[in-house]
Amino acid sequence: MIHRRLVLAAGTAALGLALCGPATAQQAKLPVVASFSILSDLLREVGGDRVEIATLVGPNGDAHVYQPSPADAKRLAGARLVVVNGLGFEGWLDRLVKASGTKATVAVAARGVKPLESKEDDGHKGHKHDHGSVDPHAWQDVANVKLYVANIRDALAAADPDGKDAYASRASAYLAKLDALDAEIRAAVARIPGDRRRIVTSHDAFAYFGKAYGITFVSPQGVSTEAEVSAKNVARIIRQIRADKIPAVFIENVSDPRLMERITKETGAKVGGRLYSDALSAQDGPAGTYIDMMRSNIRELSTALSS
Ligand code: ZN
Repeated sequence: MIHRRLVLAAGTAALGLALCGPATAQQAKLPVVASFSILSDLLREVGGDRVEIATLVGPNGDAHVYQPSPADAKRLAGARLVVVNGLGFEGWLDRLVKASGTKATVAVAARGVKPLESKEDDGHKGHKHDHGSVDPHAWQDVANVKLYVANIRDALAAADPDGKDAYASRASAYLAKLDALDAEIRAAVARIPGDRRRIVTSHDAFAYFGKAYGITFVSPQGVSTEAEVSAKNVARIIRQIRADKIPAVFIENVSDPRLMERITKETGAKVGGRLYSDALSAQDGPAGTYIDMMRSNIRELSTALSS
């Protein structure tokens, strides 16, 4: 009797080891690559401890003009899943995937997003980013990021079926936080007087935000930071700031601040704080996560536009 119980206990212990052992070991984590910092944060939220995330374009980086390195190709080669924004944001990605020889699945986070047309105009003829007329900055609308999270959850579950339930429960907890964030942004915008909901930013990264939350963004640079800012566009913006009495201009974390400073000097519009458009800040900065980034942006907008 005693003997049999011991055998059973030993069997259970062995089983326990078999189930828990690999899942807690470092090597067992799912190797995932995110094309840029915002996607890394979403992957961290949904993937938790089960995933090991490498990020190509890191905090404060500019994915529009990114030049992948041989180390990036190595990261891709070792990955089981690569998560990208899509909508033409990562123009350099296809070549990198090919060069790396990776067998990883490439998942498009923005799948299912209703894309906005980009406002490419005469200032941008001949520039060479290849996303045509689609605006890639869909993450600036929280409703779109809910789609991103669902796509990431499904891609993780496909790459790591054992983690399906864990991914589903982490995703649903995070989706609830996104609902709260969306409500928070709407409440903050509602407190800004209607005739002051207009700003200038240095590149056209906030059309989704503007459409979702009711703020007008004007920018001299177009949707890609790759495009040259023409003198004609700067003149147009300065005219517009004067005519529309736009209260504030913003400097983004990915763009050259000198342009904004010049516009400010000529118009007297207030320089708002820093808006985060295409990248998170460093982890200990004001926009270390997607949620903190959106909160930081709405705080800056509220401060500049309310008084
Ligand atoms: Zn951008």
